[in-house]
Amino acid sequence: MNEPAYDTLIIGQGLAGSLLAWQLLEQGQRVMLISREDRQCASRMAAGLVNPVTGKRLVLSAQIEQYLPTALSLYQQLEQHFSQRFYHQKSMLRLFRSTDEIPLWQKRVADPDYQPYLETTTRQEHNPGLQMPLGGFRQLQTGYLDTVALLDRLDEYFMQHRACLHKTVHYKDILINSDAVHVGALQARRLIFCEGYQGSNNPWFDWLPYKPAKGEILTLKIDQLDIDEIINAGKWLLPIGDNVYRFGATYEWQGLDEQASVTAKQELLQALTQIIGENRTIKLVRHQAGVRPCTMDTRPYIGLHPQHPQLGIFNGFGSKGSLMIPYYAKQFSKFLQGDQIDFTEADIKRYWNNDL
Ligand SMILES: Cc1cc2nc3c(=O)[nH]c(=O)nc-3n(C[C@H](O)[C@H](O)[C@H](O)COP(=O)(O)OP(=O)(O)OC[C@H]3O[C@@H](n4cnc5c(N)ncnc54)[C@H](O)[C@@H]3O)c2cc1C
Repeated sequence: MNEPAYDTLIIGQGLAGSLLAWQLLEQGQRVMLISREDRQCASRMAAGLVNPVTGKRLVLSAQIEQYLPTALSLYQQLEQHFSQRFYHQKSMLRLFRSTDEIPLWQKRVADPDYQPYLETTTRQEHNPGLQMPLGGFRQLQTGYLDTVALLDRLDEYFMQHRACLHKTVHYKDILINSDAVHVGALQARRLIFCEGYQGSNNPWFDWLPYKPAKGEILTLKIDQLDIDEIINAGKWLLPIGDNVYRFGATYEWQGLDEQASVTAKQELLQALTQIIGENRTIKLVRHQAGVRPCTMDTRPYIGLHPQHPQLGIFNGFGSKGSLMIPYYAKQFSKFLQGDQIDFTEADIKRYWNNDL
């Protein structure tokens, strides 16, 4: 048989597929990315927030000491390559929503693991734009990735290198034989699925349990608000310049589609008034919806198929793609090159069983 034209085909050009392709190309692999024509994906809706301590319970992300430096270093490398800024470091002011949250914060700041990520003093801001009767505190090492700018530059780069195609792949067009995978006329040594939430329909990986969550997000113009840091009060307000803010996001586990809904818009606008008060002139610039590829145990799905090692998966980054994808793209690309790499916590082997 002829040597396949590609080492790796990747289906899905969100942040997962794009950063994995970038790493594989860097290592000299022959790569082809294939992704839906409309380019709509969760990655392009996302606020791109990077926040080490999240949730009501203020939980520090596992492996943060690996995820965060790898993400910052990859984004910096991409910034240098494209001469454009993608990652914006921005402090985050977290507002106490109830008095119950204060002892929890005190407990966290007393914990040495949390100290690099939380300020130890509370804040009573005098910004007349903010409603914060209980005060708040600053979270550290936070920021956001401009995912659209990054994915646009990467798309141009892949096109220049003839490494991407914009079309929908149908599973019936995928053929596997012992030493190659065929997707229509394309042939490769292996195929990696980076399909985001649509991966839950994948017939080769239908044994992986997903818990996809729809999210909606508003882009708003709010004059004279004068806020230049991320405000987090369960929902977050992200200033992106010129009095424009992104506000989100909702979580919905039913009716998973990519359509913006009136209900979510109302929920968001109501939550916003609790942060910035009423009587403001707010202009809606955009209302977007996407579906997060969340998993049952909140850990990613990475690895090769137990019976068809020509097929692999790199998915399940939930609501933390900007933080986690760079680390796992690096690990998985090295693994695909044959290196002994450990990504046990994310390895799909945890779901292998004898029936597969
Ligand atoms: C409203 C909202 C806010 C969010 N905010 C944040 C945030 O602040 N910080 C953060 O880190 N994360 C956030 N997320 C989550 C983040 O979007 C995801 O973690 C990440 O983008 C997932 O990337 P992905 O590449 O796996 O999936 P996606 O971005 O969904 O990409 C999957 C791609 O695969 C393509 N595809 C699928 N099937 C096929 C097929 N058969 N043929 C061709 N192409 C196919 C799709 O078209 C798509 O382009 C948010 C998500 C939402 C919805």
